Amino acid sequence: MEPKNQQTILIVEDEATLSNLSQTYLNAAGFRTLIASDGAQAIEMHTNQHPDLIILDIFLPKVDGREVLKAIRAWSDTPVIILSALNSEEDRIKGLDLGADDYITKPFSPREVVSRVKSVLRRFQTQQSNMRQDKLEFGPITIYPKVRRIEKNGDVIDLTAKEFMLLLTLASMPNEVLTRESLLSRVWGFEYLGDSRTVDVHIGTLRKKIEENPAKPRYIKTIWRVGYKFDSSGLEEESDDPQLDQ
Ligand code: CA
Repeated sequence: MEPKNQQTILIVEDEATLSNLSQTYLNAAGFRTLIASDGAQAIEMHTNQHPDLIILDIFLPKVDGREVLKAIRAWSDTPVIILSALNSEEDRIKGLDLGADDYITKPFSPREVVSRVKSVLRRFQTQQSNMRQDKLEFGPITIYPKVRRIEKNGDVIDLTAKEFMLLLTLASMPNEVLTRESLLSRVWGFEYLGDSRTVDVHIGTLRKKIEENPAKPRYIKTIWRVGYKFDSSGLEEESDDPQLDQ
């Protein structure tokens, strides 16, 4: 791999055997790696070295992984994969709610870490490049990210700045489920975390403006207990049973 294209992964882990294992596999896959062994060092390295992705252990000395993620999300959208021994579904969702991009439970296979790193980076790059496109087209809906304009069947739809950012954030990751907390931190900033009703209210007004039938949305779909996704197919939900939306 060309050194100038090399992506840097910051591994935040206090157990040296684990960080060395991930490091070996990531280096073999062509990534540059940095290791932070506590939370304070992780925040400092993120600020000074601008890694492309962070693998973040939750249980850390000094500053715990959740606090590290909060500090990072306050001003940056660097992708974060949380690494933790917690493995209940609830803990997994909590990790994602903090604005993490993925979650790996311990014990983990280092190959799994490499493949998740690649997939999160790919998703993030797709999103970044979509947000820089001149236009994104989904059937009758056309979004012009640069001029912050949206048209439906050629007619301009009047959106507020937040509605536009919410729509663009969802549509730049089509068919990916985004949690309310991750939408809050991306569109409103981290200080709004906890007030996820804000997202629901804005989704409601957005649907009224872009959906034919806001009660049966074709584009902005609710994923029960998790969040929302932008469905690029524009097809009506097949079933109202929330269990089937999982
Ligand atoms: Ca640990």
